[in-house]
Amino acid sequence: MTIRIAIVGLGKIARDQHIPAIAQTDGIELAAVASRNATLDGVPHYSTIDALLTAALDIDAVALCTPPQGRRVQAAAALRAGKHVLLEKPPGATVAELAPLIDAARSGGRTLFAAWHSRFAPAVEPARAFLSDRTIRAVRIEWKEDVRVWHPGQEWIWQSGGLGVFDPGINALSILTRILPRPVFLTEAELSFPGNRDAPIAARLTFSDVTGISMSAEFDWRQTGPQSWDIHVGTDTGDLTLSGGGSKLIHDRRTLIDEVPTEYAGIYRRFVELVARGDSDVDLSPLVHTADAFMLGQRRIVEAFTEPGS
Ligand code: NAP
Repeated sequence: MTIRIAIVGLGKIARDQHIPAIAQTDGIELAAVASRNATLDGVPHYSTIDALLTAALDIDAVALCTPPQGRRVQAAAALRAGKHVLLEKPPGATVAELAPLIDAARSGGRTLFAAWHSRFAPAVEPARAFLSDRTIRAVRIEWKEDVRVWHPGQEWIWQSGGLGVFDPGINALSILTRILPRPVFLTEAELSFPGNRDAPIAARLTFSDVTGISMSAEFDWRQTGPQSWDIHVGTDTGDLTLSGGGSKLIHDRRTLIDEVPTEYAGIYRRFVELVARGDSDVDLSPLVHTADAFMLGQRRIVEAFTEPGS
């Protein structure tokens, strides 16, 4: 069976990644788009997800590429209508809102997939295998990018529930929680909020685990010049670095992997498999750490953030 999927929220990630990845993946095809302001040539269009679910009865699944603040209502409606659901990251605006969605998918026999795209980067599974039998001594994450380059004009990202710098930072946490052999927990956090925004522009986090290792993470959206999406892990057999958001793996200066990422092809292959097996996959650990940072974090007010035209 070919899964007929509709994209909801035809914005940057839908155009850059979802459309090409669906086209490349066996077992799934793009059958409709629901977006208030955007259309796609040759693909049936609906203005809202409700209009889609009412009219397009031949759709099997939806991919929710909208901002996180509206996801729960959209996912609940799609599951109620008997559709499989792929959730862009982060899977929701709160942690608890996922529980009824998981229940609805289970009781309705539908697939719910919380897609953490960075986990599909080429160096992530090899890093997980490498670390599975090593003693880990320290972890340092640097996730620093220029928000004006990567998120121009995205107002929702600065509003409550939009996560601010945790929108990219949660990608680092999705990799961290995949590659480490044991769970970690947050011990300290400092979040920097621009005086005119409801979401942080920078964060410093400290994690530990049951063995007492200290792990640090620095997220910063004010980075100009070279951008860094790096995770450094010190082990008993040398230093392991995942750089480029998980596309490159270096062990003691020796490059083991350096590949162009095809994360979204991996996401859609996994979605097709999950639907075929009748399974769901909803790991909330990156969202839990993010919620913990907002709960535990000390707040600093920093310089207001403005961009041209705002
Ligand atoms: P975006 O460019 O702003 O696109 C989101 C689309 O959702 C909009 O174009 C809009 O289309 C629709 N939408 C529905 N309700 C909205 C609302 N209240 N406010 C704004 N837009 C609304 O955002 P994006 O970068 O594609 O990100 C979407 C999701 O994908 C986020 O959760 C993000 O974390 C995730 N993601 C983004 C990237 C990236 O590089 N950009 C990478 C990975 C994951 P209509 O106006 O036509 O309805």
